[in-house]
Amino acid sequence: MESKLLYEFSNTKTDGNASMSDLLGGKGANLAEMSNLGIEVPPGFTITTEVCNYVSSHNDFPKSLKNDISKAVNNLEELTNKTFGTGDNLLLLSVRSGGKISMPGMMDSILNIGLNDDNVYKLASSFSDERFALDSYRRLIQMYSNVVLDVEHHRFEAVIANKKRMDNVESDADFNVDQLQWIINAYKNTVERFTGNQFPQDPFEQLHGAIEAVFKSWNNKRAVTYRKINNIPDSLGTGATVQSMVFGNLNNQSGTGVAFTRNPSNGNKELFGEYLINAQGEDVVAGIRTPHSISKINSNNNESLEERFPKVFEQITEIASKLEGHYKEVQDIEFTIENEKVYLLQTRKAKRTAQAEVKIAIDFHKENITTKEESINMVDANNITNLLHPQFIESQNKELFGNALNASPGAAVGVIVFDADTAEIEAEKGRNVVLVRDETSPEDIHGMNSSVGILTTKGGMTSHAAVVARGMGKPCVVGAEKLIIDINEKTITNGDKTLSEGDSISIDGALGEVYLGELDTEPPKLSEEFNQLMQWCNSTKKLSIRTNAETVPEVNKALEFGAEGIGLCRTEHMFFEGERITPMREMIMSDTKQGRAKALSKLIKYQIDDFESIFTLLKDKPITVRLLDPPMHEFLPKSDIEITELGNNIGVSPSYIREMLIKLSESNPMLGHRGVRLGLSYPEIYEMQVKAIYKACFNLHKNENLTISPEIMIPLVMNADELLSMKNILINKISKLEEKYSYKLTYTIGTMIELPSAALNSHSIAEHADFFSFGTNDLTQTTLGLSRDDASKFLTDYVENDLFKQDPFVSIDVSSVGRLVEMSVLEGKSKNNNLKIGVCGEHAGEAKSIHFLNTLDIDYISCSPFRIPTAILSAAQAEILKQN
Ligand code: PEP
Ligand code: MG
Repeated sequence: MESKLLYEFSNTKTDGNASMSDLLGGKGANLAEMSNLGIEVPPGFTITTEVCNYVSSHNDFPKSLKNDISKAVNNLEELTNKTFGTGDNLLLLSVRSGGKISMPGMMDSILNIGLNDDNVYKLASSFSDERFALDSYRRLIQMYSNVVLDVEHHRFEAVIANKKRMDNVESDADFNVDQLQWIINAYKNTVERFTGNQFPQDPFEQLHGAIEAVFKSWNNKRAVTYRKINNIPDSLGTGATVQSMVFGNLNNQSGTGVAFTRNPSNGNKELFGEYLINAQGEDVVAGIRTPHSISKINSNNNESLEERFPKVFEQITEIASKLEGHYKEVQDIEFTIENEKVYLLQTRKAKRTAQAEVKIAIDFHKENITTKEESINMVDANNITNLLHPQFIESQNKELFGNALNASPGAAVGVIVFDADTAEIEAEKGRNVVLVRDETSPEDIHGMNSSVGILTTKGGMTSHAAVVARGMGKPCVVGAEKLIIDINEKTITNGDKTLSEGDSISIDGALGEVYLGELDTEPPKLSEEFNQLMQWCNSTKKLSIRTNAETVPEVNKALEFGAEGIGLCRTEHMFFEGERITPMREMIMSDTKQGRAKALSKLIKYQIDDFESIFTLLKDKPITVRLLDPPMHEFLPKSDIEITELGNNIGVSPSYIREMLIKLSESNPMLGHRGVRLGLSYPEIYEMQVKAIYKACFNLHKNENLTISPEIMIPLVMNADELLSMKNILINKISKLEEKYSYKLTYTIGTMIELPSAALNSHSIAEHADFFSFGTNDLTQTTLGLSRDDASKFLTDYVENDLFKQDPFVSIDVSSVGRLVEMSVLEGKSKNNNLKIGVCGEHAGEAKSIHFLNTLDIDYISCSPFRIPTAILSAAQAEILKQN
């Protein structure tokens, strides 16, 4: 651990900066950065994340911490001209948590630390406002007792509700001095009843307790769950920021709020957020009072900050633009207004929808805030797939059940559940569920994660539900005030319409609408900004992006998303389709060459048709056709009904089929009779396939004047001899066809590299191959010795226990599979200068893997259609990184 345990920040002396988020957490680092920028930030200090880890492991503070805290508090006293705990001009402090990666609402903060029974009257006289002082004290007791002393929150809420009812008071801000004094006494009694101790009166005891509790909150259940879902390492720890208080609850010229510097849902350039007058800290997110909009444009009641406090609005607008210019990112800020002066308490990169992210990236460049490259880097490549998700078909009949705020876009159709546990249970059964709550809290995270969409009846655009759903990329509608949930009956009602748990609803997160029943969806329309971004990426990246596809709809989708060709056409998928499985089975069942030839003559018709339609779509774009790969028995029937049916169709007995099933079954089919091994055992299968390729090319040439140059790929090769012997069979077949039809086909023959043996023999294989395509799925399976069909059962535990940073089937394992690819590329190219190289395993659609692949001398990557935009964007981002 570093010897420096805390870092101070103020407009006169700041130790940290934005780059120190590892040590200070995001909040602490950015408070330091803003102080350096001259933005009005109440001075304070941040205790490091290392101290958090120390507290976790030793259950105690490091030795010198209390001393360092005292010194830093002294410095604050000097800076603010106030004194902590005593004196006429009281210094009060807040303690907040903040890890390196923001975890909204996951951990705790405590405000107004330093107040007690005696000095609360000093605070009252220094501001000439007893009501304000008492309100601050009762907030301290409530927050402190909840977070540090573990007294449940609702015990205090009950006191407040009780007093409101007794005295007919409408809002918290309306309590008078006597009523607040009554509440404080009731709070203190509550603390004594549930903890057996009095509320602590010593300011330093309060401060130390708060700091310790903030560090401990790193390990509370909701923080741990959030980290698990978001892949945040437990080892990061949180910082604890101690800051001098400014008071949003001082009077009606004071308040508190949160704002995004742009609209996080659609990316529009407007200050987007909510504020409360005469309120403090967590009031906005807690949803206790209804906040008002910051901008006029999002307001429906003339209560916006822009209208009521134009000067304050101007200050925030100025700060927002300064922050955007400085960070080159949209910010999510938290502020306090004290007597119409704005203080920043936090800034961080704003979570936003994929739609907003793309629009903002393009707009930032138009507004000269960023370069094109910086704008490309602003978009999260793994997130962009959210843009490709379906939306509701406009023209269908829709029956509106309710409407509210459009918190996170997308179309979700599912059955209603009213609590997070049920959501999780039903989702595990394979049902699509929509979580419906009055409001969500961090305890609901697992249920939100299991749901396809979220609907709340309360809360605003910055409510917990809205923020978390946006982060998860799930459709979400919030604040549907007219909908009434009866949690006991498990119903939700709007007027005379009542729905029960298990009923279907459809929610449109882009419009903020909720419909009855299951609506039909259609593919999304891609925005102008999306197309612009793709265009920038295409002119930046070096790698070509192809697709893995073998059906007309898939190929069309991929081309629409910008695929530059097909890198993998898995022909076995074409044999599984519809009625063609029968001649395929007939071929496998025949034990004579003639029998197989008869079946193949039926299959070839389908293959020619399929190739013709795909080749027509591609025209002059490249296409790699892979010859049959999986083990034979995968095509065979399994159930008794299927066996009888097949027997009838091909004229053999069920017992013959059962015998064949036993004969063909393998202990390790993934390492068995598949790929080129099948082709060598039954050359007529691959011969039929190249004939189909040839005939499709020939027909298109003759009828459409199209010249197709197919790349024919041989799978699962181990060494050069195996490749060469198969290649000779294919060349021979094609030569005969060329002679017969007097049409010379331009084609190449290459191989997949998906076994360590192939990678190790790259130099000799390359002498006989026109191209290599790395099948990193099988290469991962065979290099790591992990069954791709079974490993998921224990890989999650491996990832959780940090034995793997990420599932190696998702993100390439650079130190093993990555090294093999790297070595194979070098050796292959050294033997064959013209060798074309691609990667077609799943890794070719994953951002981190693409960054690695872009460092190698390869020509293209090939992924499934919906991952094409991720691949295009990642390839551009990887290239930008490489150039810098
Ligand atoms: C691979 O192994 O990476 C590959 C692309 O082939 P398949 O997934 O069809 O085995
Ligand atoms: Mg493979």
